[in-house]
Amino acid sequence: MGCVRSAMALWWLSMIIFIVRTRGDIYGHCISSPIVDKNACKKIAEANLEGPIVFTSGPSITEASSDFGGIVKNKPAAVLSPASVGDISKLIKIANESPNLTIAARGNGHAVAGQSQALNGIVVNMTSLRGIQIVQKGGGESYADVKGGEFWVNVLRAAQASGLSPRSWTDYIDLSIGGTLSNAGISGQTYRYGPQISNVLQLEVVTGNGNVTNCSSEDQADLFYSTLGGLGQFGIITGAQIVLQKSFDRASQWRFVYWNFTDFTHDQEILISFTQGGAFDYVEGFVIANNKNGWPSIPFLPNATFNSSLIPPTAGVMLYIIEATLYYDEGTNVNQTVQNISSELGFIRGLEFNLDTSYFDFLYRVHPQELADRANDDEHEDQSDIRSVEEAPSMNSNQYVQKNHPEEWIIGDKNEGVHTIRRLARNDEQVFVARSKLEEQLGELIKEERSDLCTRLSKKTAETFMAFDKCRSTNRVVFAKLSKRVSEAMRLAELD
Ligand SMILES: Cc1cc2nc3c(=O)[nH]c(=O)nc-3n(C[C@H](O)[C@H](O)[C@H](O)COP(=O)(O)OP(=O)(O)OC[C@H]3O[C@@H](n4cnc5c(N)ncnc54)[C@H](O)[C@@H]3O)c2cc1C
Repeated sequence: MGCVRSAMALWWLSMIIFIVRTRGDIYGHCISSPIVDKNACKKIAEANLEGPIVFTSGPSITEASSDFGGIVKNKPAAVLSPASVGDISKLIKIANESPNLTIAARGNGHAVAGQSQALNGIVVNMTSLRGIQIVQKGGGESYADVKGGEFWVNVLRAAQASGLSPRSWTDYIDLSIGGTLSNAGISGQTYRYGPQISNVLQLEVVTGNGNVTNCSSEDQADLFYSTLGGLGQFGIITGAQIVLQKSFDRASQWRFVYWNFTDFTHDQEILISFTQGGAFDYVEGFVIANNKNGWPSIPFLPNATFNSSLIPPTAGVMLYIIEATLYYDEGTNVNQTVQNISSELGFIRGLEFNLDTSYFDFLYRVHPQELADRANDDEHEDQSDIRSVEEAPSMNSNQYVQKNHPEEWIIGDKNEGVHTIRRLARNDEQVFVARSKLEEQLGELIKEERSDLCTRLSKKTAETFMAFDKCRSTNRVVFAKLSKRVSEAMRLAELD
């Protein structure tokens, strides 16, 4: 008995020494960091955070200093990898009481303009907060209960194990739940189900005062709609309930080539006007140079034949491609369905391409390209004149384009064979069906402003940098007006 007591006493003593040393280490590192508010350092040290907080230069600080864009760089003083929602709550409470401590949540760091950075502040590495629970209910009401730092690809894997799947996606799905839900989350399914933010039943949010709260369209709706698409400014998303629907076995992917911009947009609109069964589940489009640089990137497979003699001599310097995908289950006559839909379309006959894959491989289709890019980086490792694809500044951005947008605007560099700008196949009325208050307000603003909201830019040339800058500044104006309008609405609601 005496032995047990001594062992317990020793354990307690070692715990006390450990806690005192850890607090001392955290405090010491914090006060010698660029954090200006040293009182905050004391509170951070005393907060007993469960997850590690790193102040010393190393991989986590380096990673949090940059993002996918590689254009904006802001070094934080520290990175916290929370082990619980409580860690985030404690940190936000400390920052809330501090005159100058800033915090930013970071998912997979795929933002392109420094949105997940905090100069001399603390970056919260959300990827340490993961977990998925699939909740199956009757009547098509199943959902995934997901932690904010989880990646969408893992939600897909978990849901498919129960024959289910989220229904609204981004093209690239190695992104975090909190990262896309604080933006919008758009892809070819958006025309049917709205962006990802329109497919959320409930959020768990740590608000600006550090409180942990659940909100939905019925409970604290203002917080719910502000946080969805709120660019991380209304709270940190620590959990979300994502609507699920039936999953499918296969995906029949198609590309239809047009030489004429008017036919291209006309057909896109036909395709997105079918929102019920019998329509493509995914509709997007892209633009490509009408020359030897552009043609090979149109067929899905690298060695496939592209018969350019089918392009009419009257065609211009660009070609326009509709991408459309139909989901199906084994045993379904998918070709008949595709034929029924496509017989009405005005693409160049003979220039239609098909790739049949599993449903999972379709949704994860950008991943092989990313692996190829990384392999390309390794090849160029020793050549100082070639910049790594990962490191080179780039600007990927998915935004809306107006229906009546001039053709010239979407055309980037006419000589290059890469996808310049991807245009979403829908018009503003259809996109901004008022599924949420935010969308409703944003939709109104965009109509009023007749703003140019550019879509995905994947090319790294001066032209696309300029186009990107133009889009960004226009979008900033729209968002500034939007937040002014939201604050005004909130002020009026408070007065009521
Ligand atoms: C190659 C590539 C392809 C892309 N494809 C698409 C696409 O098809 N469709 C599309 O819609 N978008 C696309 N994007 C954009 C992407 O959806 C956004 O940049 C998204 O925010 C990235 O998620 P992330 O997890 O990397 O977030 P981060 O880049 O880490 O963070 C982005 C923003 O979200 C905030 N944030 C992060 N986590 C949270 C959280 N838990 N709570 C609150 N705020 C948080 C950050 O503070 C920051 O403001 C693409 C980006 C790249 C680089």
